[in-house]
Amino acid sequence: MRCLPTFLLLLLPLLATAQLPDHSPTPGGVAVVPLGPASSDTPPRADYYGKRVSVVKNDGQWVALVGIPLKGQAGPDKLIVDGRAHHFTVTHRDYPEQWLTIKNKRKVNPNPDDLKRIRQEIAPQRAAKRHFDENTWPDLVMHKPVDGPYSSHFGLKRFFNEQPRNPHGGLDIAAATGTPIKAPAPGLVVEAGDFFFNGNSVFIDHGQGVISFYCHLNDIHVKKGQRVERGDTLGEVGATGRVTGPHLHWSVGLNGTWVDPSLFMPDDQRPEPYSTQTE
Ligand SMILES: [Zn+2]
Repeated sequence: MRCLPTFLLLLLPLLATAQLPDHSPTPGGVAVVPLGPASSDTPPRADYYGKRVSVVKNDGQWVALVGIPLKGQAGPDKLIVDGRAHHFTVTHRDYPEQWLTIKNKRKVNPNPDDLKRIRQEIAPQRAAKRHFDENTWPDLVMHKPVDGPYSSHFGLKRFFNEQPRNPHGGLDIAAATGTPIKAPAPGLVVEAGDFFFNGNSVFIDHGQGVISFYCHLNDIHVKKGQRVERGDTLGEVGATGRVTGPHLHWSVGLNGTWVDPSLFMPDDQRPEPYSTQTE
């Protein structure tokens, strides 16, 4: 083997080490599960309730990044890795409630035509959320995609016009209509379009099925199939779909479930804990 310059030798451990998200094995969190030595470049196949799990190389080890659904339960849990059970534990996390009033009542109680459209929009969005680009290794550090205050936390138990709906699967950032939305990490645009509840939306696969999602956009500046670098403009903040005002809704997904984006963010860009936030 040729001798490498010293500075390259010093870099090697860094190149082999992914910067992992926080290990936060709660509903809506990420379980970072070590799977053993990485002796090849082909990661083991890991599945969680039948869905393929992102596996990355870190410090010579394979590590699974398991997205735990917000509706998941605390207690013993397992991954299936190359056909064998691999156990880990989910711990409890409680999320507060949020009660919202939506002026456009059709966005809460859609009419029959809306319901037809909503049904047609399930498959393409589900496919984007479950996309798995196995040829790309993800950069797992996600930068805040828009400048602005956080206006709604991840995981809130939601009520629209006093009716219970799905919990909040992302982070909301308030900003004026037209504010540019920047890609938080490199990736591939796997869906870009207009949907009934989400309005103008973009889905990105950052590699190994690490997905991010942006919705309620005023305008979309990228196309399906396009590669983006960190900082590229994806579109503009808007108020399309089911909203109370202009903001970006940003989600991060693993194995087909939304997890807390802040687990991937640099510390100084994360939202404050619930108690100090005003809404
Ligand atoms: Zn939101």
